[in-house]
Order: sequence, then structure tokens, then C-alpha cells
Amino acid sequence: MSLQDINTRIAKAETAAGRAQGSVRLIAVSKVQPNERVEAVLEQGHRCFGENRVQEASGKWPAFRESYPDIELHLIGPLQTNKARQAMDLCDAIHSVDRPKLAKTLARLAQEMGSCPDLFIQVNTGEEEQKAGILPKDADAFIAECRDLDLPIQGLMCIPPVEEEPALHFALLAKISERNGLTGLSMGMSSDFESAIALGATHVRVGSAIFGDRVKQPG
Ligand SMILES: *Cc1c(COP(=O)(O)O)cnc(C)c1O
Repeated sequence: MSLQDINTRIAKAETAAGRAQGSVRLIAVSKVQPNERVEAVLEQGHRCFGENRVQEASGKWPAFRESYPDIELHLIGPLQTNKARQAMDLCDAIHSVDRPKLAKTLARLAQEMGSCPDLFIQVNTGEEEQKAGILPKDADAFIAECRDLDLPIQGLMCIPPVEEEPALHFALLAKISERNGLTGLSMGMSSDFESAIALGATHVRVGSAIFGDRVKQPG
């Protein structure tokens, strides 16, 4: 697959769902990809990328930004509070706000820094023990808490369990979002982004379908 193929498929899915062209943002997930592959996608004009680790992102993106100042960077992986400041400095959006302690830290730093990236609350729709995210039953209260902290919450994010039909999880996320008056929905990856678009995704996070298979991450 190429970037162009993915863009074409996104456009088709938007049309099929009766949605406006350009209503879905493609986050090209570049984690553990060699720099040549990232550079190739930058050269094709794409500027919106996702990384799942602060450390890897901070080693990689400042240099790319010197050549391409209009890069938009999204953190899509779990965030430790001690890396929050670094993440806020580096990223335009954080998709993994998943617990009160992190929300409070982000709020304090936002006050201090006078700015804050766009935020998405990660919901553990499959209620999986090993996965990050607020449980669906706690989502409404957590969204309210984040709003009380004046955090710029754009929407919700989920990663469906591998063994389950993703559409059920996308629909659940959309329902929680709607009843809380949120508009952003970060959902859909290489294997299921068209289904996510049909169910209202505003941000799809696509890695291997654009860049090719990832080299296996250690650990
Ligand atoms: C790696 C990753 C993706 C992209 O996965 P692909 O299957 O390669 O498209 C999307 N979202 C998150 C949170 C990820 O960590």
C-alpha cells in the first residue's frame, strides 16, 4: 500500500458514509519505522504523524521539523506523568489521556506553559486488563473531571481488542462521545479504518498499511 492508496480509500469511505471529503484526518503512525520510510512519506506531502513513545518521538521529530516546519505530531501511546512536559513540548495532540493523575499533571503544566496540545481521552472499550484507558462506566465522570480542569478535550480514542469485531467498539466509543457532546473520534488502524470512518472516526491512525511491516519492538 502507498500513502496515495490509503488517501483514496479514506476518500471512498467518507463518501460511502455520506461524510464530507477531508473530514477524516490521517495520522501516519511512524513508530519504529526507519527514517528513510518516514522521509519518503514527508516528500509525498504528508505532514501528520503519530508516535507511541515520547522518547522515540523526541529523538526523531525535531530534526524532521527543521526541514518540514509544518509537521503535526500526535502522541498515541501511553504517557507517564514524568514525561508529560516533554510530550506537551513536542506534540500537537495527545490521544492517551487515561487517568485522573495524568489529567491533573497536564492541567498544571498547561497553566504553567500557557498552552496545551489537543487532548483525546483513551477509553478501554474492551475492558482489557493489560490495556490503558478509562473504563466505559467511568468515562462520563472522567470527561467531566477533565473539563473541570479546563483541559482542551477534543474527543475520545480507543484500541479495540484484537479478537473482537472492531465495529462494536467504534460504535460504543461514538455513543460515549455523543452523549458527552464531544466531536473528535480517534479510532481505526490499518486493518479497520474504513469501518471506523463509517462509524464517525475523525482521526484514523494508520501505520503498517502506509509504511510496511514494523521491525519487531524489543520488549
Ligand atoms: C501502532 C499503532 C497504530 C497503527 O497500527 P497499524 O496496525 O500499523 O496501522 C494505531 N494506534 C496505536 C495506538 C498504535 O500504537
